[in-house]
Amino acid sequence: MSERKEALFYKRRDDGKIDCLLCPRGCRLAEGEVGACLGRKHENGILYADNYARTVSMAVDPIEKKPLYHFYPGKQILSIAPNGCNFACSYCQNWEISQTVVPTRELSPHQAVEAARRVRSVGIAYTYTEPLVWYEYLLDTGTLIHKAGMVNVLVTNGYINEEPLLKLLPIIDALNIDVKSQADSFYRSHCKGRLEPVLRTARIAKRSGCHVEVTNLLIPGLNDADEDIESMVEWVSDLGVDTPLHFSRYFPHYKCDLPPTSAETLQKAYAKAKERLRYVYIGNISVDGASNTYCFNCGSLLISRQGYTVHAAHLKMDRCAVCGAHADFRGV
Ligand code: SF4
Repeated sequence: MSERKEALFYKRRDDGKIDCLLCPRGCRLAEGEVGACLGRKHENGILYADNYARTVSMAVDPIEKKPLYHFYPGKQILSIAPNGCNFACSYCQNWEISQTVVPTRELSPHQAVEAARRVRSVGIAYTYTEPLVWYEYLLDTGTLIHKAGMVNVLVTNGYINEEPLLKLLPIIDALNIDVKSQADSFYRSHCKGRLEPVLRTARIAKRSGCHVEVTNLLIPGLNDADEDIESMVEWVSDLGVDTPLHFSRYFPHYKCDLPPTSAETLQKAYAKAKERLRYVYIGNISVDGASNTYCFNCGSLLISRQGYTVHAAHLKMDRCAVCGAHADFRGV
């Protein structure tokens, strides 16, 4: 049996309920109730991290699948996930394990580290659903992973309060943050969330020295207008022009039956973003050259990618072998 773990970041109220303070969703839980993320439960005045050491999925993936293109390129990473999410996106691409309760298997922090070692992974990616709602497990496992000389990667919606974020970041090496739109109305209507905490997470993570990449899933008619793309590019540019931006293709899923994103829309977004940003990519569809990394200074091909097959071209350590410009990679 998994260890029963008391949650961090909660407050007991005079009326007997508990306020969870981990994320901006702000669940107020009566006795016996479970939070919107499915992971935290109020029992006898205590909030338990009921998802502690329980995983719905375990696989070894290319790190490019996260997607992370500038962090340990070409390496494999053990990828695990909790059951649940603190968003409720109508188009969720992984809704079966993020929005419904499904069977999980035990994976203690020690077992996770051993598994990462066994498969010669560079570390652990906490991914597929929403890892921030696995908070206590992230802290314990992430600390052990660092002690073992490996890295921690979060693939996340970024929806967490500031205090827990600051406590977590020292053990996080890289994040891919899914920024869905620059419109708060999009978050409210389609995700049951809000925009600003997501942007705050990205800013704080970047400032604190974590490696940050951003993914933007483009959904026809919802967030793919020219103004949407322009405001996304402007925000990423403010975050740092060296921040890789991945435009990702949407497919109809869960409660959303809009048609898949067209290649033209993705190419238009790519061209617009390339005017301001050093590294732009298209994912979930094969578009010639749009997965490659080019030197921002001289345009030389640094890394070519075909599916998840990665080839270093003109890359010497973390610099362009042609002009010597820094190429903004970690772990090469
Ligand atoms: S972490 Fe879960 S229980 Fe806590 S506020 Fe967020 S959704 Fe609710």
